[in-house]
Amino acid sequence: MNNLSESTIMSGVICNNCKTTIPDHTIGQHMDKEFMSSLHTCKKIIDVPNYRNINAYYVEPTNYRDSRICIEEKGRVSSSKAARKYFSFDYEFGDVQKQAFSILQKAGFKIMARSADNDKYIFLVDNWGDDYIQISDI
Ligand SMILES: [Zn+2]
Repeated sequence: MNNLSESTIMSGVICNNCKTTIPDHTIGQHMDKEFMSSLHTCKKIIDVPNYRNINAYYVEPTNYRDSRICIEEKGRVSSSKAARKYFSFDYEFGDVQKQAFSILQKAGFKIMARSADNDKYIFLVDNWGDDYIQISDI
């Protein structure tokens, strides 16, 4: 009893940071930082880049207006309003995502990732501080 050695298996060890159960390993391995970092890679939320979220979606034509696309950035806090800018739908692109991508790139946005859901395209952009571009300035 209580005969712990470097080869004693540790099981059910929970990561202090992410609360995931780490696979079984020995005490010897547990003391080996390099081994442990290969066994369990743990990201902290601060390690994940924080980007601005810009949406683009199609706006149906009306009796008064042709088809448009809207480029939108929602307010980041409850007190701030969404910023929106509308553009004529460009039939040369014929595609909201491609047109919005072109508009954002021309405006100087650093587009880091894209996504979509059932009603819009999403662009994650890395424009903060001195690189901040207002939607109204596009
Ligand atoms: Zn972890």
